[in-house]
Amino acid sequence: MPNVQKYWEKFFKISKEIALYYGFESIETPVLESADLFKKGIGLNTNVIEREMYTLKTKGGDSLALRPELTGGIARAYIENGFSNQPQPVKFFHCGPVFRHEAPQAGRYRAFHQADFDVFGDDDPVVDAQVVQVICATLNELGIKNFSVHINSIGDKNCWAKYRDELKMYYRNKVGHLCQNCKKRFKENPLRILDCKEEECAVLKASAPNSVDYLDKICHDHFKLVLEFLDELNIPYTLDPYVVRGLDYYTRTVFEVIPENVSGSQISLAGGGRYDYLIQQLGGKPTPAMGGSFGIERVVNEMRRREIKVSNAKPRTRLFIAQLGDLAKKKSLRLFEEFRKNNIYISESFGRDSVKAQLRVADRMGVDLALIIGQKEALDDSVILREMQTGVQEVIPSDKIINEVKKRLKKIHPRQPANNQDI
Ligand code: AMP
Repeated sequence: MPNVQKYWEKFFKISKEIALYYGFESIETPVLESADLFKKGIGLNTNVIEREMYTLKTKGGDSLALRPELTGGIARAYIENGFSNQPQPVKFFHCGPVFRHEAPQAGRYRAFHQADFDVFGDDDPVVDAQVVQVICATLNELGIKNFSVHINSIGDKNCWAKYRDELKMYYRNKVGHLCQNCKKRFKENPLRILDCKEEECAVLKASAPNSVDYLDKICHDHFKLVLEFLDELNIPYTLDPYVVRGLDYYTRTVFEVIPENVSGSQISLAGGGRYDYLIQQLGGKPTPAMGGSFGIERVVNEMRRREIKVSNAKPRTRLFIAQLGDLAKKKSLRLFEEFRKNNIYISESFGRDSVKAQLRVADRMGVDLALIIGQKEALDDSVILREMQTGVQEVIPSDKIINEVKKRLKKIHPRQPANNQDI
């Protein structure tokens, strides 16, 4: 909606500046992709694939999906465009709409926007810390200061077999209490039970074994270093065994950024993790990767909840043009464009015919100057220049009006808008 655009613009400006500073290059990928791309990456037993992905069949029989996240498309672009032959790491920044068929509620939408930071070709823990850092820096710059990074490590292939066995053992005599989907997950991928949102499953996970206790030495040391880097950066984090992330492609570090004073995982502002197998799973060379994404609506909601001041991207209009009669309207249309070329914002209410009604609008907007072109002025090629504060008027030849307005705007102290509307 127009009244929240200034927050969006601020988000894009800050996130893009930080992305550039940290060496992330902008990329755009299609909203519609092959459904298989997401099925292969995100995994079949996940909420996203089982219930939330919008799919469609083309007339030719292809199965396509509205992207439920950005990483799949970026990974495909990395493979298809030969980025693995470039010096690594390759870093991408991507903003765009994503779609999930979820139950809509505050902060959870079916069409929303994400901003993604991704790093390909480097498995050093410093990359994990850097992705968390760019996300935290963006929030800080936006004025969102109190938040915590909930972080966990789910290990890699070498840790999963043991952890999976432990989970199976734990859930073996509890299967009857799990939701229908989790009964299936118990057989196919018990880790997914941990991010099930059904109440009965959430209660049971409280005493489930934690993945960090089943890390092998390499994953353990990797995670330890990630935390040491975060300590060095003074990034506030909480070790949270329940952050396992709903997508199968994650390995090792996973995190969610939760604002202070709001509880529950529903409201994470951002989340992400390492996905070292995804590129290979999609047909590329083995390539480690790490990324994180913001939910932009949630960040915007949080900025508004905290009443963070953001100035309007469009400067306040200080000038208004009013007209009377068709000839005057034609001249006004032309003059309107002349002012744009001279970088001066001007407002109008061309649909209104009475000058009085137009000046009333000008007054409500709190402009400093009004231009009035009546029938006489249209014929004379002149303009009445009115100072709104004093009501003093002067006739100026049309070809001198731009310079005269520039002079007056410098001289006059700007009025405040008469009402609180964002203009
Ligand atoms: P995910 O891709 O599920 O890891 O989500 C990354 C971020 O996107 C989350 O931290 C949220 O900020 C945001 N997000 C996820 N799902 C939704 C949704 N349905 N509506 C709005 N924002 C969402």
